Amino acid sequence: MATKYIFVTGGVTSSLGKGIICASLGKLLSARGLKVTIQKLDPYINVDPGTMNPYEHGEVYVTDDGAETDLDLGHYERFLGINTSQQNNVTTGRIYYDVIMKERQGAYLGKTVQVIPHITDEIKSRILELGETGEYDVVIVETGGTVGDIEGLPYIEAMRQLRYDVGKKNTLSIHLTLVPYLRAARELKTKPTQHSVKTIYEIGLQPDILVCRAEVPLDMSIRRKIAQFCNVDVEDVIASIDAESIYEVPLMMLEEGLDSQVISKLDIKCKDKPDLENWNEFVNAVKNPKKRIKIGLVGKYVEHHDAYISIVESLIHAGAVNGCKINLEWVQSDEVTPENVDKKLGHLSGILVAPGFGGRGIEGKISAVKYARENKVPFFGICLGMQCAVVEFARNVCGMNEANSTEFNAETKFPVIDVMPDQKDILETGGTMRLGSYDCALKKDTNSLRAYKQELINERHRHRYELNNEFRETLEKAGLVMAGVNPDRDLVEIIELKDHPWFTGVQFHPELKSKVVEPHPIFVGFVEASLKKAEASRQEPEKSNSAN
Ligand code: GLN
Repeated sequence: MATKYIFVTGGVTSSLGKGIICASLGKLLSARGLKVTIQKLDPYINVDPGTMNPYEHGEVYVTDDGAETDLDLGHYERFLGINTSQQNNVTTGRIYYDVIMKERQGAYLGKTVQVIPHITDEIKSRILELGETGEYDVVIVETGGTVGDIEGLPYIEAMRQLRYDVGKKNTLSIHLTLVPYLRAARELKTKPTQHSVKTIYEIGLQPDILVCRAEVPLDMSIRRKIAQFCNVDVEDVIASIDAESIYEVPLMMLEEGLDSQVISKLDIKCKDKPDLENWNEFVNAVKNPKKRIKIGLVGKYVEHHDAYISIVESLIHAGAVNGCKINLEWVQSDEVTPENVDKKLGHLSGILVAPGFGGRGIEGKISAVKYARENKVPFFGICLGMQCAVVEFARNVCGMNEANSTEFNAETKFPVIDVMPDQKDILETGGTMRLGSYDCALKKDTNSLRAYKQELINERHRHRYELNNEFRETLEKAGLVMAGVNPDRDLVEIIELKDHPWFTGVQFHPELKSKVVEPHPIFVGFVEASLKKAEASRQEPEKSNSAN
């Protein structure tokens, strides 16, 4: 079967959940035995989101090959259980960068270089590249932004051309729109959808299927109206109603027949029904938790939950296998002080100190680590969170009072976290960190080895600073366990504490590898330990009662 391409565009407004719809459709198709991948096209001019502020862009998702990409790739990986790569995320910046490089090299043989055909050709070749690997039956291509945006035009034009290049029978266009409910009129309104479809028509792309995001169900008369005014069959009007959990969306799309419409239009041969047994079990566990616990996420971007989206999802996965719902408490790190830490964190069953860059909130994070260490509260430090744990241990256990990371104090007497020597002279900020997948060998008799159940693992990275090996021996002598080390460069990847129920700091980003079908072992272990702590705290008052 020739690779099929499904182009997904969005209209009316952003934030309609295009990424989740793509991931859900991908899930349904792969559950029918098809090999599926998803590509995100981002119309902004940054070469990648790596240089963008988390408030601006949310989390930067890193792939095994070290690409800094859009957070939608995280949804694709988590839903489909696949690994993506640099090929799965293309930005306008990257397209122009490559076209300009080629122009400088004389690759265009003296021609005038233009948006059409040179930019559109470059976009097309990026889309086809995935299909040409021969690995996929279906490539879903999601375009960021909203139809009608100036910067999106070359992408729509590339898709329009591709429908001819690879044939209409091998391509499909899905358009996601909004059908707002006007409370005062008690009516769903189809006009924004009509306008959006008209706009995409004007630039040459005819949607085959409309996915209509709405707060309330769409009845038949609304569906007919949309179908009639937008030139699609009524079965091709798919309702996407607000869901409690994003993991319900594939099931809702199945109910609406999105996958069967796609399959019949593209004439795909596959299983009659998707096999969603595991998925259903997972959704059931998410929706019907037997227990609930409170975990605190201490970070500096907490007003913007998208900045930690993979951590949030990983906790949901780990909660589900433990039969528990995690009520996440967002703790602003720059508000935590040694004086108020007990009040802020005392009621929590687990403390997670988040990744981040820059000095704001560091002392708050260090106070949170100290609290977790001293009070035996399960602790999980990720990247900067691990670095804060090392600083805290150096200061308060090893007596190196002014210990710090050179990221925050370049002059510190005890630079327990320091920039790697090969990073010192790098001035460029884009794509220059330690990025992507690296091996880590686990030490015997550690919580990490018990969790992973294998001695050599690999995890994804995104950081510039490392535990400084000059201080390793002192820290180890005082009781810090170097539970995981990168064998090639002898860099510490995981730290633990012995006499503590769960104290784990990781230099890498485990949240980037947790999948619905394969929750991440460290998250699972941390949640297990937090559940035990919650259990113990519940029994404490009982104990004192029975003693009375
Ligand atoms: N700022 C730290 C570093 O660059 C940690 C980065 C992170 O948490 N991702 O090493």
